[in-house]
Amino acid sequence: MKRIIPYAHELLQEVVQDGDVAIDATCGNGHDTLLLSRLVGINGEVHSFDIQEQAITNTSQLLKENHVTNVQLHLDGHENVDKYLHDKAVRAAIFNLGYLPGEDHSIITKPETTIEAIQKIQDRLVTGGRIVLVIYHGHEGGREEKESVVSYCEALDQKHFEVTRYEFINQINRPPFVVAIEKRK
Ligand code: SAM
Repeated sequence: MKRIIPYAHELLQEVVQDGDVAIDATCGNGHDTLLLSRLVGINGEVHSFDIQEQAITNTSQLLKENHVTNVQLHLDGHENVDKYLHDKAVRAAIFNLGYLPGEDHSIITKPETTIEAIQKIQDRLVTGGRIVLVIYHGHEGGREEKESVVSYCEALDQKHFEVTRYEFINQINRPPFVVAIEKRK
């Protein structure tokens, strides 16, 4: 069976093409940004967000090591995504909810701002475009965010969006799971 992160990456790989615009809403150490930068190619662009300077530094370092030039890093909350995208259409976005491993565990994604960012990105998705949410919820504040985000996604109109959930239901310690939103024709 597919692990959670490889599965989330596969959901992106299936839809992102050369020349696309893609978003890493929580860049952290930059692994998802690097994947997206490869998928959109030199003709595409990736916008990556994080509110922690350390995350932007780590991502910037990873991109430099890999000679990446198609990524714009934003030291800003993903809820401000519209400031940077204007009316650009988006093929895909990924969110890793929770805290940055190895850093301050009290700096976490929050339900209101996560949902605000999802709303802004869903309005810019091209047909067939996807928002992939990797929901970590074992930490303090994680349950509240999980419940709010899942409720929001469950209420999306099925005429416009397909929403799926992928998870291991017999693992201990509240493992992360994936929710994916796809814009319908
Ligand atoms: N995808 C990352 C990786 O591969 O390393 C891990 C991301 S980590 C689970 C969550 C990140 O979200 C943290 O780095 C945190 O600083 C960031 N974050 C929290 N609130 C945010 C917000 N409003 N906008 C953007 N990033 C935020």
